Amino acid sequence: MDETDRAFETLAVTAGEEPFGTGSEAGDVISPLHLASTFALPGLDTDLSLEDVDPDAGEFVYSRLSNPTRHALETRLAALEGGDHAMAFSSGTAAIFTAILSVVEPGDHVVAFDDLYAGTRRMLEEVFETRLDVDVTFVDATETTAVEAAVTDETAFVWMETPTNPRLELCDIAAIAEIADRANATFGVDNTFASPYFQRPLELGADVVAHSATKYLNGHSDAVGGAVITSDEALAEQVQFNQQVGVGDMLAPFDSYLVLRGLKTLPMRMRQHERNAAAIADYLEGHEAVTDVYYPGLESHPQHDLACEQMDGFGGILSFELAGDVDDAASFLEALKEFTLAVSVGGVESLIELPAGMTHEPLSQAEREELGITDTLIRVSAGVEATDDLLADLERGFDAIAQRSAPIAEDD
Ligand SMILES: *Cc1c(COP(=O)(O)O)cnc(C)c1O
Repeated sequence: MDETDRAFETLAVTAGEEPFGTGSEAGDVISPLHLASTFALPGLDTDLSLEDVDPDAGEFVYSRLSNPTRHALETRLAALEGGDHAMAFSSGTAAIFTAILSVVEPGDHVVAFDDLYAGTRRMLEEVFETRLDVDVTFVDATETTAVEAAVTDETAFVWMETPTNPRLELCDIAAIAEIADRANATFGVDNTFASPYFQRPLELGADVVAHSATKYLNGHSDAVGGAVITSDEALAEQVQFNQQVGVGDMLAPFDSYLVLRGLKTLPMRMRQHERNAAAIADYLEGHEAVTDVYYPGLESHPQHDLACEQMDGFGGILSFELAGDVDDAASFLEALKEFTLAVSVGGVESLIELPAGMTHEPLSQAEREELGITDTLIRVSAGVEATDDLLADLERGFDAIAQRSAPIAEDD
């Protein structure tokens, strides 16, 4: 199917759907859930070599290799990121691990953003550096020159994330793509925070994109999954081999079904996430108990211009610095009723968390300080609820802080 001239909203609903395709002879308008672990073969002489089995032609052998429901999802993810190939994994972590494993060898050098998702940073340090003899340099990639300075003849892979977690820092995808290109290094981007609706790194020159599908792609906080998307044939072959054989990690049919369903509303959800995040950022920026707000959509964001250039929207995640101490932060968080205290982002419900004590607790105090993650930095994942209810809830949080510091009334 030619998907090049169809709009994102259309692809989100239809890419990968074939009402009279494989296994849906009844004409199901949505991809059916294929739970089978194995598939009946046409005959004894069927060629089972990986490169000769074609899921696009409805050929399936065994569900670790390929499965019709997962294949429908992979087809749609490729269309949405503007790539030729997509592979779905059981988590974002597995997707990122497999993408990196498919490129680097012992002795290689990797340049990575110092502000990566904490799990990815630990993976690079404790698996790739410590066990696989890969040398990793972490740089402040908000400065493109720092990336350029870190690249060596040995650099095989450049791994970035933008916007980052939890400070919403950006790196210049097109500029870093050129640096990686000159160095003959593969350039990968974790596009989880923006989602393909707001940012498509492959169009900006990245070689490979990874996602935690757990977040916006699924969007309903009821599945864990990941994806790798690329148009590089050799890399796709390597990632696919590792997905099917080298690692043997793939998204299960039921989770593939959930992400397929979630994706249909990705554009509408992203617009409402963004509307809420922008309103919250504005509200917080004007609040006396807040010293800093980090959201790429704010003109005060140091990289607002870059965000306007490389993104189609600013997303639904922001963070802010509370005036006061960690006990004020605790009072604030405990007073909230609409925002749920939880890690993760990208679901339809609003979540809030304290990175220093939750998502970034595994980092050392020194690493946190270097990344600007203080004990009073709060991260918000704006859901799709009514904006006014979310703002009123934050007001409740600030009231709780004010009461804490108010002198106790004499007649009490
Ligand atoms: C959540 C997340 C991951 C890890 O994905 P899992 O699905 O939890 O394994 C990686 N990168 C980013 C930016 C994330 O938010």
